[in-house]
Formats: sequence, C-alpha cells, structure tokens
Amino acid sequence: MSAVDRTRPITIVGAGIGGLTAALELAGCGFSVEIFERAAQVQEVGAGLQLSPNALRVLDGLGLMDALLVHGTRAREVTLRRAFSGRRIASVPVVASDGTPYVSIHRADLQTVLLGAVERSPAITLRLGASLESLAPKRGGLDLWFADGGTRYKHHTGLVVGADGVHSSIARRLGLAAATPAGAIAWRGCVAQPTGVASSPGVEAWLGPRRHAVAYPISGGRETNLVLIEPMNRTSEADPAGLPRRFRSWDRQLRSMIAAAGDMTGWPLYVVRPDRPWRHIDDRLILIGDAAHAMLPYAAQGAGMAIEDAAVLAAALARAPTQGAALAHYESERKPRIARVRRRVLFHRMIYHLPAPFSFGRNTALAIRSPESLGKDLDWLYDWRPPAVSRDVGGD
Ligand SMILES: Cc1cc2nc3c(=O)[nH]c(=O)nc-3n(C[C@H](O)[C@H](O)[C@H](O)COP(=O)(O)OP(=O)(O)OC[C@H]3O[C@@H](n4cnc5c(N)ncnc54)[C@H](O)[C@@H]3O)c2cc1C
Repeated sequence: MSAVDRTRPITIVGAGIGGLTAALELAGCGFSVEIFERAAQVQEVGAGLQLSPNALRVLDGLGLMDALLVHGTRAREVTLRRAFSGRRIASVPVVASDGTPYVSIHRADLQTVLLGAVERSPAITLRLGASLESLAPKRGGLDLWFADGGTRYKHHTGLVVGADGVHSSIARRLGLAAATPAGAIAWRGCVAQPTGVASSPGVEAWLGPRRHAVAYPISGGRETNLVLIEPMNRTSEADPAGLPRRFRSWDRQLRSMIAAAGDMTGWPLYVVRPDRPWRHIDDRLILIGDAAHAMLPYAAQGAGMAIEDAAVLAAALARAPTQGAALAHYESERKPRIARVRRRVLFHRMIYHLPAPFSFGRNTALAIRSPESLGKDLDWLYDWRPPAVSRDVGGD
C-alpha cells in the first residue's frame, strides 16, 4: 500500500459527532475532506449529552472549548442516589486532575458548534442529502454510490471513514453483523426550568433494580435532560404513558420530573459486537464511532469514544508512512481502550441495577469510600490525552 494520498480528499460518510470531529481533525492535519450526510440538514435528535474531560480535550485542541462552554454546564460531580428514597449514596468527582471540565450540553448545541467549525474550514466540503447506497473497490480506491433525492451519482476516493452510526449502512454493505438489541430502552425527555431558576449543575443518577435514571442541565441550565433506562419488552416499547406507573415508587423529585417531561421518546439500545472488524477493503475503509463500536450509554462515553477515534485516526494518517500502517496504528491504539470502556459500561450496568439485598451492600461499599478514591477509579478514562500533532501543515 502506498503513502497516504494528500492529493485527493478523504471521504467521510456521516456528519454525526464522530464524522464532524474527524473532518476537523483531518483538516487540522493538512488533509482535505468531503463529508456525505444523508440528512438534508445536520441536526441532532435526542436531547442531552455528557462530555467528559477525555473528549473535551480533543474539542479544546480544535479551539472549540469556549463556544461549548457558552451552551454547556460544568459538572463537578456525579451524584448517585437510591432509587426509592432519593438519598445520596455517593458523589463521584468528574473534573480531571489537569482542570479539564466535565460538561453537560444539548446535542444540538454541540452539533452547531462542530458544524460552524466545519463550515469555516476551506479544507472541508459538506454534502447534505447524500445517502450512501453502495460501494465497490475500483482503480486502487473505492467507488461510492450516493442517492440524493431522485438522483444517483458516483464518487471515487482513496479512503473512506465510515462514521454512519450504530445502524451503519456501510457495515451492512460489507456484510458485517448488524448491531444487536441490548434488551433495554432509554426514554429521553426535557424539563423546562421555571423562568429565572437555573437547573443545578452536576449529574444526578438514581439506581434501582433493573432500571436507572439520569438527569443533568442543558441549554445553559434552562432545561433539565432526563433519561430513564429500563428493560425493553413489548410493553415498555409501546407504552411511554406507563412510565409514571413503572417509576411510581421512585424518589418524589424524579417522579415530578417524569410528570413534567410529558411524553418521552424511546430509544431501544443496540450494541455492535466487539469482534466486528473496523478495517476493510485493503485498508481503503475504516469505521469509527458507533459504526465501529456502539456501546450501552451507561458510562456516557459513546460520543466521547467517537471524538477520541477522530483525533487518533487523523494523527495516525498524518504520521504513518502508508495508509495501511496508519489504520493498523489506529486500530492498535483504539481497540484496547474501547474494550476497557466496554468493561466499565458492563460494570456500571451490573452495579446500577442490583436488586435488594445486594444493593444494600453496594450502597455501603460506595458510601464508605471518599469522593477522591471514587474519582481515582476513572482517572484512566478521563485523563486520556489526544496524540500531539502539528497543526501547521494546512487546513484552516
Ligand atoms: C440514551 C443515550 C444517551 C447517551 N448519552 C451519551 C452521553 O451522555 N455521552 C456520550 O459520550 N455518549 C452518549 N450516548 C452515545 C452517543 O449518542 C453516540 O455514541 C454518538 O452519537 C455516536 O456518534 P456517531 O457520530 O458515531 O454516530 P451518529 O451520531 O449516529 O451519526 C451518524 C450519522 O451518519 C448519518 N448516516 C447514516 N447512514 C448514512 C448513509 N447511508 N449515508 C450518509 N449518511 C448516513 C446519519 O444521518 C448521522 O448523521 C448516548 C446514547 C444514547 C442512546
């Protein structure tokens, strides 16, 4: 395989958090980029997102921290509460040791900040309403076919970054296993704060048998984002109106938020199998973000991992002698980290959802530990730093 080709643009499929961040990182490393997005407009569905210090360091490196902090709210800790009484079990500090914050933000605000930076970059072209239909190896690269309304057109490229999400159509075209239902559903909703009263900063999580709930401020504290996780079965899928009943014995504060949120939107949760490969077609195609490794949101790291992927991939392509070496390096850096985050997610699922009497043991074990020692458990996650790259080689 030859050296990384800087004469033609790198193609990104998908303008979600991963695709937009990858475009900015690649442009910063001197590559030109074309992004193809099937939606006619770049818009985030869903409500809030927690961005931990590991992800924010990447966005800070792109010069976006100030813009993010205009919309986001800094959290100092995640407070774990008992499901039924709402009593505090423990608080886990989340600010990194170097002071990098932990921020809760509306997804649309993050998307707007990323999109603004993409539109300002002369190295990036964004094609909206372009849905990938098929792909095939051709002349040392790949031919991609896109549908734009009634029009179908071909695009030739030397490298495709597949950032098209958990139900990746690229993965489907490659014949990879589809994402697997995780047997759980996330209900998402927003609660408006009374005028002049900002939602208190920080992340609150209620832990109960087979269910948990998370709430945090978005939109500069004018709203609270509420997420309820429960087992997925036919009843829960069909019945958002039954949420007040299913959470009827939970903490009063949580119940009043559920009532105020009105109809919540259900997101059945899916995971991508850890053994699904990321590099394809003689290293002409690489998967990132949810398309590569969608995981349960119980450690609030899916978007964070997509953002980290973007930084590592761009640095690898900037430095490695060949495209194949770059993608091999990307994979060797990312796979162990993703595996470790997945293990943490499963650990959270296990301890969050413990029934009595095991939950009493959990609560006691957490309560006797100092916040500092609980925070240290996550140093490996939050202290991650993106690779240092020279950003003076081109881009905007
Ligand atoms: C309930 C819930 C809560 C979460 N909370 C957090 C959190 O607090 N913190 C966190 O870090 N993560 C969180 N996540 C995970 C996070 O939302 C995802 O990991 C992240 O959005 C993945 O980004 P992505 O860019 O890989 O994919 P996506 O955001 O899904 O973007 C994929 C893009 O590809 C486009 N696309 C798809 N198919 C095609 C095609 N054929 N042609 C062209 N374009 C296409 C789509 O339109 C979309 O724009 C949460 C997830 C859930 C479900």
